[in-house]
Amino acid sequence: MKPKILITLDTGETDRRGVKFANVNLKSAYVDAVARAGGVPLLVAPTDDTDLIEALVPLMDGLVVTGGAFDIDPASYGASVEHRIDAPKPMRTAFERALIEAALAGGKPVLGVCGGMQLLNVVLGGTLIQDIGAQIEGALEHEQPTSPAGAHHDVELMLGGLLTRLTGRGKLSVNSTHHQALDALGRGLYVEGRSPDGVIEAIAMVGRPEVFGVQWHPELQDDATSAAIYGHLVAAAMGPP
Ligand code: MN
Repeated sequence: MKPKILITLDTGETDRRGVKFANVNLKSAYVDAVARAGGVPLLVAPTDDTDLIEALVPLMDGLVVTGGAFDIDPASYGASVEHRIDAPKPMRTAFERALIEAALAGGKPVLGVCGGMQLLNVVLGGTLIQDIGAQIEGALEHEQPTSPAGAHHDVELMLGGLLTRLTGRGKLSVNSTHHQALDALGRGLYVEGRSPDGVIEAIAMVGRPEVFGVQWHPELQDDATSAAIYGHLVAAAMGPP
């Protein structure tokens, strides 16, 4: 049986000849990455209907929390707006928070990607750097001007860590499409990798290696590293052999 991997959709708007419609959307690379890794991608639309959220939880063997062009309200990690904050999506964030909490409580694997890793950290009590450019002197540009199909900066992996084991490498070349980063780590999380400027680029949970996050988008880099990361999630979602 292939494990069912819930993938969270983004909320947005389409414009058809001047008429605007609310929509949900997702980069199809997420779907492809989960399917290639042997999971069944189940795309779930954000809702504030708690009954619906409760009904989704039993369908979840694993969870991918996706990113998007928005930020988490700093109030959710006890801060006020001090730097650039891209308009939050409170309903989407609350929905993803509920799924993350259910996955953590139910022993299910979680992969947080980009903003999804940031939310995983916040759900566990961590905080965020609101704007890398404004707050980290000498930081690299983490919003690459080129296609994210190509790499933009390196990530130095923790020796003997999860990603080193999964990829067989000590350093990765990754894309970068974020302007925020993790600051204080949430409960039980540790740093798996950093870019050369010290920005946290990968995390995992102590004793629960199936709960992890990457600040980049492996699904947009169709390579062995991407396959290893999504493969780890799907293998964990399959449970013990
Ligand atoms: Mn980066």
